[in-house]
Parts: sequence; structure tokens; C-alpha cells
Amino acid sequence: MALIIRSSAIHAAGCYTTTPIRKGERVVEYGGKRVPKDKADILYQDRFVTYLFCVGNGDKVIDGFGQAMFINHSCDPNCETQEEDERIYVVAVRDIAADEELTYEYNLYDSDDDDMRCYCGAKKCRGTMLGEEEVKRRKKVAAKKKLAAKKRAAAKKLVKPRGKVVKKSATKSKKQPTKSKSR
Ligand SMILES: [Zn+2]
Repeated sequence: MALIIRSSAIHAAGCYTTTPIRKGERVVEYGGKRVPKDKADILYQDRFVTYLFCVGNGDKVIDGFGQAMFINHSCDPNCETQEEDERIYVVAVRDIAADEELTYEYNLYDSDDDDMRCYCGAKKCRGTMLGEEEVKRRKKVAAKKKLAAKKRAAAKKLVKPRGKVVKKSATKSKKQPTKSKSR
């Protein structure tokens, strides 16, 4: 099996196979440097494009390097990613013909980018490269923001009584009876 990188109809460059691949075959490893997640967040905060792949329980990421990082997302992919001993492998989920572009679902999360629109062109395109869980999470956040805005708007509608405000002094004297001004 030989993979090549060339321009893709989906996005920029893509990864193509020059030979047929059988379903279940391990295509390529998602290689790269292992970086602790919290370090990566700081290290790559200003970088325009990051290819980080979470491994383990999410405290480590792989800073993608090599052919696998050119594999584009598709909502109807011909590959999937599998983790084994904190290594990520791209595995064919169906038979792939020679010259086909390899794709897998990115299942993105923890992204600051609002524009995660998908252009994969699949019939069942979900319209986003975000994972389903992340889409749900973002909906929740958006709903919360809406609710907070509503609450703020409601707070603005609060009115003050315009009449005389009667202050009860009883509570004051109850608290500190020793300091009463009786003398
Ligand atoms: Zn899509």
C-alpha cells in the first residue's frame, strides 16, 4: 500500500491511496510527538492550524506529523481511527479503491474556532466537523448564554418603588445592643 499527498476536492491537500485497500486493513499510523494536553494548549494557542490527536484519557495529544495528518474529514468516511496502547491507527472501514482519497471523522472538540463547517460533500454530511458530543455541548452553552441574556434583560426591567422608603431600625439595635447610644 502506498499513500500520496495531493490536492483534494474536500480541503487543501488530501491523502490518497495508489493501491486498493481492504476493509479492516490498518492504513497508516497517526504519528507525531506526544505532548501533554495542558502544554499543547499553551504551545499552540497562536498557531493557525493545529493537528492534535487526543490519546489515553485525554491528558496527552499527538502533534501530528506525517501522511496521516493530511487525511481530511468526511461525514461518510472510508476509514476510522483506532487507539491501541496510546497509538492511533487509521483503519479502513470499507474496501477502498486505488486513487480514492482517505477520510475519517474528525470528531473535533475543544476548539476555539467557531467555523468548523464541513465541505465533505457526502450525502449525509452533518455540516460540521465537530463531534456529535461537542455539537450537543455547544448547543447547551448557547442555550445557557441565551438564558443568561434573558435574565439580564429581565433584571433591567426591575423597577424601584417611587414612594417613601421606610427603614426599620429594629434590626440594627438587635444586632449590637451594647453599642446603643443611650448616654
Ligand atoms: Zn461533511
